[in-house]
Amino acid sequence: MISKHTIDLVFETARVEEVIGEFVQLKKSGSNYKGLSPFSDERTPSFMVSPAKQIWKDFSSGKGGNVLSFLMEHEHFSYPEAIRFLAKKYHIEIEETEESPEQQLQNNERESLFVVSEFANLYFQDILLNHPKGTAIGLSYFQERGYREDIIKKFQLGYCLDEWDAFTKEALAKGYELDYLDKTGLTIVKEGKQFDRFKGRVLFPIHSMSGRVLGFGGRTLSADKNIAKYVNSPESEIYHKSQILYGIFHAKKEIVKEDNCYLVEGYTDVISLHQAGIENVVASSGTALTPEQIRLIRRLTNNITVLFDGDSAGIKAAIRGVDLILEEGMNVRVLTFPDGDDPDSFSKKVSSEALKDYLQNNSKDFINYKVSLLLEDAKNDPVKKAALIRDIVNSIAKISDNIQREIYVQECAQLMHISEEVLFNELAQLHKKELKELHGVSLTEKKSFKVLKAPSAEETQETFLQFLEREIIKLLLLHGNKELDFIDWVDAHDEHGKYKPQEVIHRNTVFEEIFLQLQTDEIEFTNELFRAIYYEIINLFQQYETINSDALVNHSELEIAKEVTNILMEDERYLIGKWEKRDISIKEKDDKNEVVKSVTDCILNFRRNLVNQKITELKNSFSLNEGNNNESLDLIMKYKGLEMLLSDKLGREV
Ligand code: ATP
Ligand code: MN
Repeated sequence: MISKHTIDLVFETARVEEVIGEFVQLKKSGSNYKGLSPFSDERTPSFMVSPAKQIWKDFSSGKGGNVLSFLMEHEHFSYPEAIRFLAKKYHIEIEETEESPEQQLQNNERESLFVVSEFANLYFQDILLNHPKGTAIGLSYFQERGYREDIIKKFQLGYCLDEWDAFTKEALAKGYELDYLDKTGLTIVKEGKQFDRFKGRVLFPIHSMSGRVLGFGGRTLSADKNIAKYVNSPESEIYHKSQILYGIFHAKKEIVKEDNCYLVEGYTDVISLHQAGIENVVASSGTALTPEQIRLIRRLTNNITVLFDGDSAGIKAAIRGVDLILEEGMNVRVLTFPDGDDPDSFSKKVSSEALKDYLQNNSKDFINYKVSLLLEDAKNDPVKKAALIRDIVNSIAKISDNIQREIYVQECAQLMHISEEVLFNELAQLHKKELKELHGVSLTEKKSFKVLKAPSAEETQETFLQFLEREIIKLLLLHGNKELDFIDWVDAHDEHGKYKPQEVIHRNTVFEEIFLQLQTDEIEFTNELFRAIYYEIINLFQQYETINSDALVNHSELEIAKEVTNILMEDERYLIGKWEKRDISIKEKDDKNEVVKSVTDCILNFRRNLVNQKITELKNSFSLNEGNNNESLDLIMKYKGLEMLLSDKLGREV
């Protein structure tokens, strides 16, 4: 383990612009640097590095972070690898804290499972490549399948000897605990005896997005039909089948560059396509895609192409799973192979060039494909056709883009020989139901939303609240330490007894103002990520009495680090276009009054929203419990009064 002291020293010394400069040609631009995105093939630069903030942001792919996350994204380094790289560059001596395998295992369970899995991975590779039985049985199997040596090494393929416990014995001898071997499923413990789960199988290690080994798939070499062809690691603290995509680590760079992800069935398909030079490919490992898996892909691209094997019964079963991908807001295409072929077998029949051409030219839009496929069956059967219409409309309804949806309606109407009206009607019915779900729009998509604007009919309360929450985080990050004059209105009456609220000015830091106001109302953020960031900010403030965004940018929770980077870099994006023209002097845009106004607006809106929620709740319960209607009515009136007061204050702000 690298010592904390070394890690701190690396962070203090490393300069993001120097490190990134080794990989990307950077040009000075105002107070920042810019260059061509290393994550996409672009012509105009949208990659920015801020020396002042020590962060980077790639506006073409949305990635960003600190110096470490750049190395992890770009070079696929693990965290310790990135630290070692930087230490070497800056001539920092690495201090290792001495730990025996046993101590390491005690660190914490999850980490221990990772450590055991990584050991197994190295062991199985070593057997495959160096053990006489490994090369004779395992390696020769892969070679017979046509895998090149560089591909075998790249995917870290391995072999487990055909003995009862060869691996388990070796692991125990090296000091790894049986408990963790059991929990990862590498060893099966039964009645005091231990067996290797993957005995006699060739192994495909399964990596996380960042390249850590989570588990294994093992293929038998026996032709015995009674033996399962594939055995996988069981569910564990680190192996969650529903959240894993085989190949994502090796594919992620290319998925981003191609802005498309091929989805195949299994290990052999992924590896064969890589060997043919197609690297943007992942496998769901047999089962239908889960929402978690789809979201993993969506972090890299919005486009997915599902590759189906050639038999039509399988295709019909598989297309049902595809609706789920549409539901996640992704664009889906499908591609089929000639009957009897899967991507693995097909890639062996044709040249790499021919395969690439085939993939390029044969993908079809999913909905059109589904219509043509199912129409065959339903053509002369009105009952089936009605069901088909409902089915297709169901798919179309899952698309969140209005224009795209209309195009589909037109196309499908033509294909099915029915009027567009019929489809639109059906869609309208469904749409009412689905509207709510579809409205989980991500915040980054809302660009110019004024704080003062109350939620419109289409804006659900939820998205509006999230917008406010993010805005508050932004204010804290950018201006949290500033001391400013805030205005309070207190109830007062003039000399004639007329109600006349009075202005009271108090000086506060932006952090304290927001904190106090939210605390007074006992407001909790609804969005989990924003809540986490908010508590981190409070934490920092309590420790250091100032908000230091570095600590958040370098946060160990990557989600937090990423969102904070996004927020900090948002203003820079706006500048990137202008630099193209000429060096425009950049005006500090944190006008004091602007900040005070934003803080006040946010908090007032927040409160009004809460009050509105309360009113709605009360109204809903109103007729239900007749006995208490008078009390409820009273409360509603009170809340209404409060709402008017808040609206009034908001109005005064303008
Ligand atoms: P063969 O050499 O007979 O074609 P294969 O190893 O290519 O065998 P297939 O039966 O063609 O395997 O299946 C294709 C892919 O589906 C495999 O690469 C594998 O990843 C996946 N697969 C098949 N069965 C299972 C299973 N039981 N569990 C997980 N994945 C499986
Ligand atoms: Mn096969």
